[in-house]
Order: sequence, then C-alpha cells, then structure tokens
Amino acid sequence: MQFFLPLVFLILVLAAVIAARTFLLIRSAGHKPLPFQSKLPDPPLDRQKIAEHLSAAIQIETVSHEDPAKNRTENFDRLHDLLQRTYPRLHGSLSREIVQGFSLLYTWQGSDPALEPVVFMAHQDVVPIDEHTLEQWTHPPFSGRIADGFIWGRGSLDIKNQLIAVMEAVELLLEQGYQPVRTVLLSFSHDEEVLGHGAPAIVRHLKEKGISVHAVLDEGNAVLDGVLPGFKGHTAPIGVAEKGYLSLKLTVEASGGHSSTPAAETAIGVLARAIDRLQSHPFPYRLNTVYPMFKGLSPAAPRLLQVAFANLWLFGGLVRRQLAAQAETAAAIHTTTAPTLFHGGVKDNVLPTHAEAVVNFRLLPGDSVAEVTEQVQSVINDSRVRIEPLPEYAWEPSPVSPTDTPAYQHIVSVLNELFTDIACAPSNMLGATDARNYHAISSRVYRFSPLLLHKKDLERIHGINERISLENMHKMVSFFHRLIQRWSSGEM
Ligand SMILES: [Zn+2]
Repeated sequence: MQFFLPLVFLILVLAAVIAARTFLLIRSAGHKPLPFQSKLPDPPLDRQKIAEHLSAAIQIETVSHEDPAKNRTENFDRLHDLLQRTYPRLHGSLSREIVQGFSLLYTWQGSDPALEPVVFMAHQDVVPIDEHTLEQWTHPPFSGRIADGFIWGRGSLDIKNQLIAVMEAVELLLEQGYQPVRTVLLSFSHDEEVLGHGAPAIVRHLKEKGISVHAVLDEGNAVLDGVLPGFKGHTAPIGVAEKGYLSLKLTVEASGGHSSTPAAETAIGVLARAIDRLQSHPFPYRLNTVYPMFKGLSPAAPRLLQVAFANLWLFGGLVRRQLAAQAETAAAIHTTTAPTLFHGGVKDNVLPTHAEAVVNFRLLPGDSVAEVTEQVQSVINDSRVRIEPLPEYAWEPSPVSPTDTPAYQHIVSVLNELFTDIACAPSNMLGATDARNYHAISSRVYRFSPLLLHKKDLERIHGINERISLENMHKMVSFFHRLIQRWSSGEM
C-alpha cells in the first residue's frame, strides 16, 4: 500500500497537468475577442444575376495547357470582353493593364496615395477535362448550367468563382458610391494551372513601378464542414504560407551490350536502387509547422486531439506517428518525396545505356532547395547517379505571413460575420499558388476562398461535376464586399 501511494499521487499530478494544459490551449485559441466587431450591413445581392455572371464566365473555355501551342488564346480575349460588358462601372472607374499577353491588373485608386495598396487575386484559366470522364458529368463541363441550386462546370470552384465574386463586390461598391482610402489592386493571371508566368510578370511590373503591397488575398483553403475527422462545426484554415517545390532529375549512364551477359546492375537497376533509397528515407516529420493550426482549431477538435496537442511533451511521438500514417496529414508535417517520371531502355534484350527519372519534392517552410538537394545526394550516395534540378521547377517555401496583424484579423472577423460556429487558424498550403510571387513585394500574403466545402466537394476540384451552390456564391460576394472595405478603409 505504501508503495502505491506515491504512484497514485504521481498519476493524479500528471492528470491535472494534462487537463490544465488542455484547458489553457482551448481558452487561448477560442476566447480572443475580435478586434473588429462593428458588423457591416448585408449588401443587397441578386443571387440569380450573380449565378448568371459566373455561368457566362464558365462557358468560355479558358483552359491552360502545359504546351502553350494548345492554348486557345482567343478565349482569354472573349473572357476579357465578357468582364467588360458585365462590369461597366468597374471598367469605367478602375484602370486596366494587360500583362504577359492575357493577365489582368486593375487599379482602383485610393484617396490616400501615401498608403500601400492591397491586392485581391484569382486566375482566369482552368484545368482541362479528362475526355474519359465526359460521360460522368451531370451537365457538360463548359455548359455553366444553373440547376438544382448550383452553377455547374469547370472553374466553378477553381477559381472563376473568386474572380467573379471579387468583380461583383467591386461593381456593387462602386454602385454604392464607395471610395477606397487605400488603393485596391485586382490581379488575375491567365496561366496559374501550369505554374505560370502571368503572376510573376504582374509582380515584376509592380516592382518596377516601385510599388510594395500592404496585404494580398489569393485562392486557398475554404471553410470546411466534416472534412477534418472529428472536428465540430465550421473550420477555416487560412493559408499563411505555402510549401516550396523542387523537381530533381536523376540520370544514370552505362555501357550497353547484350542482355545475355549483363553486369551485376544495369542503368535501370542503379536508378531503381537510388529511388528506393529516397523513398525509404523520408524527410523528418516536424509538428511545429501544424501546431498553430491545431491550436487555432482546438475548440472544434475532438477531445482526444485537444489533450494530445496541448501535451505534445508527452504525446508528441504518438501524434507524429498518427499524422505520418496518412498521405494528406503526412504532407503537412514534412517535405514529401514523389518519384513521378521514369524512363530507360529500348528493347527487351538490349542493356540500357541510359536511364532517367524525375523526383518531385514539396518543401516544408523551414527547409530549402539547397538542403533538400544535399540530403538527396547523401541518401543516394552513389556517384553513378547524376542529380540535377529542373531549373523552372524549383522554388523555396514561402515565408510565413503574420497573424497578429489587422490584415489577417479582418479576414477572421469577416468570416465570423458570415459563418456561425467557426474556428479560424493559420495553415500552410500543401499545393502551389500564384500568391507565392507576391512575397517579393509584400510580407502579408494570405490564401483563402470564402466558401463552404463538404468532404464530397473536394474531389470535384479539378475533377468531375465541379459545381458551386448559389448560396456559396452569395457568401463569396458578401465576403469580398466586406473585406475590400475593411482592407481599403485605411483602418489598418
Ligand atoms: Zn486555382
């Protein structure tokens, strides 16, 4: 009995520490008063008209292809004409510049030219349709059909919805006689889906004019319902950073010959072993990159996760193993390794003289292209494998934009006006967006699309039956109507 008493005491102390830390985590995340409480009035919006405007934009096939020769550039001109016809006030009051052929940059001059402008972004292009899936579409992908409460078609979620929502909001604000204090820029590239040149060209153009930017909002995560397992209510992971990108080409040369008398390893064998070594040595998992997100979302999290994240000193190993076990969550906590191309050999009985592969890495903020390349070299550790970067396909992870700034807090505040029961938190984007280019001229770059998505909706993005509800479009326009005023009022 005497032996057990200290043990019971120890367990009780441990339980108390765990409970107290959990309580503190939830309290620090959930009960911060929003700095901007004054609600803006609901804008008078015509859902049907907004839906028709998006529908018309979807019907213009602005598909961007890896091979630019395949692009139907006349469609971008048609989209520009449509925007001009649909938003006459905007085109009457804002100046428009065409950059890099088809990218659009609008300037809405603010009344105080001493203040840095704010930028609202989207892209005009969409991904192609997989011909094999055409028959599975309920409505043809470029029909822009409005049916059953949805606008259907390619671009309705990525990201003509945001392009149209921003334009609707500006058009309405002009109609209401709104005058921004801070200059508002609208930046719509035309080739985001092919890691394009439009957005960098716009940023170069602004830089040459000596313009630096106060804050930027581009496409990104959305308000999620039932997507994060076990989380209650609405969760909004707001993108404050994005992963870097690196494609390395691995090449092996060998003397060929007849396959009846092969050496111990062929060029293909050497390369295969190199790839295998890379895959069996994943980059380290780091929980610190997702901690701010879990902290922010903790009020909505299932109890076990709350306890685990509040007590990483005790449960860190367990959490790391859990997150590493699933592809989506693993990608959030380490630099990923994906062999994506592999070529070698010409004939079944000829030894290959050449084999090559491409491995694609997505770099966690904090890692660098140089470190990853070095690590790859040391893991492969074979001088027969030549390793070189594909120069167009290499960029560093973005810096992390701050959350203790009015620009970020306005986003949170407007989301709270529009969605009930919502937990917001900073997050890292796993994919690449145009927004990364803006870090060159702004330290506050955010990525978010203010619409509500359920788990089933996620596969529609770049997939079959892409569609957006009229309700969601309405929310998006309301969001931009509010945020444009917040960001341009000179309050921040
Ligand atoms: Zn997009």
